[in-house]
Amino acid sequence: MSLNNIDKIRDDVDKINLEIMRLINKRANLVQKIGKVKNASGISRFDAVREREMLDLIAANNQGPFATNALQHIFKEIFKAGLEIQEDDHKEVLLVSRRTQSEDTVISFGSSIIGGGRQQIIAGPCAVESYEQTAAAAKEVKKYGLSFLRGGAYKPRTSPYDFQGLGLEGLKILRRAADESGLKAVSEVVSVKDLETASEYLDIIQIGARNMQNFDLLKEAGRMKKPVLLKRGLSATIEEFIYSAEYIISQGNSQIILCERGIRTYERATRNTLDITAVPILKKETHLPVLVDVTHSTGRKDLLVPAAKAAIAIGADGVMAEVHPDPASALSDSAQQMDFSEFEEFMSELTASGLLKTVKE
Ligand code: PEP
Ligand code: MN
Repeated sequence: MSLNNIDKIRDDVDKINLEIMRLINKRANLVQKIGKVKNASGISRFDAVREREMLDLIAANNQGPFATNALQHIFKEIFKAGLEIQEDDHKEVLLVSRRTQSEDTVISFGSSIIGGGRQQIIAGPCAVESYEQTAAAAKEVKKYGLSFLRGGAYKPRTSPYDFQGLGLEGLKILRRAADESGLKAVSEVVSVKDLETASEYLDIIQIGARNMQNFDLLKEAGRMKKPVLLKRGLSATIEEFIYSAEYIISQGNSQIILCERGIRTYERATRNTLDITAVPILKKETHLPVLVDVTHSTGRKDLLVPAAKAAIAIGADGVMAEVHPDPASALSDSAQQMDFSEFEEFMSELTASGLLKTVKE
């Protein structure tokens, strides 16, 4: 057989490939029709008896050269793909889904943005403790050209006897410190009753891990005109996390930032287990910006730099980290907040890594 002949046969093979493609897509159309009927009548999509009948029909009619086993294997893959197409068709399409909006959501705060391929670092103390402490942290954050200051005013503490935050007074301090340093203010709200007032003082309303499924709070935050930073719950699956974001967007607020902050596992080496692949999964499934909180996920200062590098390398839109002028005297998370020299090291290592596309432009 000459080379010319091979080319001719290859042309025929290409034509057959296209024909097979046309036929399996035609089959998929029929499968979709069946899926609609099954869905309407509540019948389960997978039908083992029907599959067996189809495989038997193939076996009975096989004239080779493929062995029946091989053919059945190929057809089982086609059946499986058909089932998947039926499942996809009936999954509700969420407003936060990439299927609803293919472009990334980018949230603008004047000259600073979150999302859209630039990374932001949100830094500041765990809690607002005093004006002096917060203002000192704000100046430090500003020193590196950062744009966002965090600081908790309503602290969700494990023990009711621990420092609960300064409340409204804390929000006022945070706002003042942020304004004096030209920063945007980020703080957690734990109760529906404080949402309206808090939103007057904040640029970003944070909903913490412990409230990720506080559906009233999510819905109310969805009615605010401010961006919401939603943290993943301690034991929440990615799917549950996405549904929580849907609660917010379903009320009209599409300015949502997701934040992976580690989940509870059996591992004790870190405070929580940073689920780093949640970042690309969330970015693939939703159009929302995704941050990683390196402080609460690791709970270890020695892991902040590697965790932040990993977060950015894997596609996060930014990092959250805690910094305090005197962590030893901090009223919460004393062991895991960076002091200013550690923060300087953190910033310089991140900058030197070349991963950070923008701190400021
Ligand atoms: C926080 O960011 O202050 C905080 C309490 O984090 P989380 O909700 O992730 O525990
Ligand atoms: Mn903290």
